[in-house]
Amino acid sequence: RPVDLVPFCEEIVEEFKFSSTKKYSINFVKHYSRDFLSNKGLKPCFDEKLLRYILNNLLSNAIKYSPEGGEVYFELTCTETDVIFMIKDSGIGIPSEEIPRLFQTFHRCGNVGNIPGTGLGLAMVKRSTDLHGGEISVKSEVGFGTAFTVRLPLYSRQREEDSSSQQVGS
Ligand code: ATP
Ligand code: MG
Repeated sequence: RPVDLVPFCEEIVEEFKFSSTKKYSINFVKHYSRDFLSNKGLKPCFDEKLLRYILNNLLSNAIKYSPEGGEVYFELTCTETDVIFMIKDSGIGIPSEEIPRLFQTFHRCGNVGNIPGTGLGLAMVKRSTDLHGGEISVKSEVGFGTAFTVRLPLYSRQREEDSSSQQVGS
């Protein structure tokens, strides 16, 4: 189903702002590229629930693993082929040796202290990204912060397959 991305993202970010300011006083910064804004009618076909799930999880991690007064940065960029979401925090960071296992189910990093969690969120985010034919990457420095980037193709392989005569599976 087509998703009107700018209001969609704004709504998600605003919900977070509203539900989390008291505890964390985190600032959200949205950046929509000029290319994106000049293409106002753009409504990419994403699974709305999966996309909401991806963004909610990355935002909740950004807040959870940041100290009070930290800043979360949300960026939405659009190229001719992809939509790119970047969620950056100034939190505890991820030790580099943990990054290969980051998306494994139940994996939690050694520096979480007593911050609660199950280690499921990122594994599901990775799966949701894969389902869109997209990719997720992370850059992080312990003690300085973390940035997750999700890149989703505007027109997924799924749609190309749909329009061909071959249908596989149910
Ligand atoms: P939950 O299932 O409730 O999301 P979780 O937050 O522990 O639990 P994931 O979201 O899968 O699980 O994240 C896995 C681990 O990656 C976390 O336990 C934490 O160690 C690390 N991590 C994820 N996001 C960040 C972040 N923004 N900053 C620092 N560490 C992070
Ligand atoms: Mg999490």
